[in-house]
Amino acid sequence: MTAYIDPHIHMVSRTTDDYKRMALAGCVMVTEPAFWAGFDRSGVEGFRDYFRQLTQYEPKRAAQFGIRHRSWLCINAKEAENVSLSREVIAMIPEFLTMPGVLGIGEIGLNKNTLNEATVFIEHLDLAAKSDELVLVHTPHLADKYQGTRMILDMIRNDRRIKPERVCIDHVEEHTIRPALDAGHWVGMTLYPITKCTPSRAADMVEQYGTERIMVNSAGDWGHSDPLAVPEFIFEMRRRGHEEAMIRKIVYDNPLAFCSQSRRFAFA
Ligand SMILES: [Zn+2]
Repeated sequence: MTAYIDPHIHMVSRTTDDYKRMALAGCVMVTEPAFWAGFDRSGVEGFRDYFRQLTQYEPKRAAQFGIRHRSWLCINAKEAENVSLSREVIAMIPEFLTMPGVLGIGEIGLNKNTLNEATVFIEHLDLAAKSDELVLVHTPHLADKYQGTRMILDMIRNDRRIKPERVCIDHVEEHTIRPALDAGHWVGMTLYPITKCTPSRAADMVEQYGTERIMVNSAGDWGHSDPLAVPEFIFEMRRRGHEEAMIRKIVYDNPLAFCSQSRRFAFA
C-alpha cells in the first residue's frame, strides 16, 4: 500500500466512515481548504465558527484514524460576490493564522469571473503577501475555466510580493495546466467522477508534463465526489506500469514539499 496525502478535500462534509476508509487506503494527511457550504452564510460569525471547526475540531476527528489534518482559510469565490462581508472575513482571518495546522489562504479564486470576485481575490492576495502565507487557488468550472485561469494568473503576477512557488493553482485541466506550470506555480489535478478530471486523464497529463510541481486530489465535498480518488489514481498509474517512486512523488513527496513552505508546518 502506498502512503498518500490528499491535498484538497472538504472533510467537514464527509463522514467518519470516510476517514476510516481513507486511512485503510493509505491516507496519512489531508489538507482542507475553506469553501462554500452549499448556502450563503448570514454574516462573519458564521465564518468564525467554520474556521473554528476547520482548525480545532476536524484535526481531532482525523487524528482518530492516524490522519494529520491541515487547513486553509478564506471566503470562497461564490460568497466573495458580497464584498463588504468578504472584507469582514479577511479582517478576521489573522485571528487563526497562529494556529499550528493552518497552511495559508485558500481556496481563493473565481467562480463566474466577476469584478467583485476579482476584488476579493486581490485583497486575499494582499493578506497572504503581508503575512507571508501560502496560497491555494480554486479555478472556475467548465466554460469559465480558461478565461478565469488567465485572469487569476495575471492577478498573481501583478502582485510582485507573491512568489510563484508559494501558490498552488488547483483544478487544472488539459487546457490550463501549462500556463500555470509555466508561471512557476504548483498545480493540483482534481479527480472527479463526473466533471473536472478523471484518474486516467490525470495520468495522461503526468505522462505529458512530468512530475515536477504536480499534485492530485479528490476535492471531496458534499456533491458528487470520491474521497478515495487519489488511490484510484495510484491504481491507474500502476496499471500503466509506472514506477512506485514516480507515483509516490506525485501523491506524497510533492504535497509534502509544497506544504513544507509554510513556516508553521510540522509533519512528525
Ligand atoms: Zn474545494
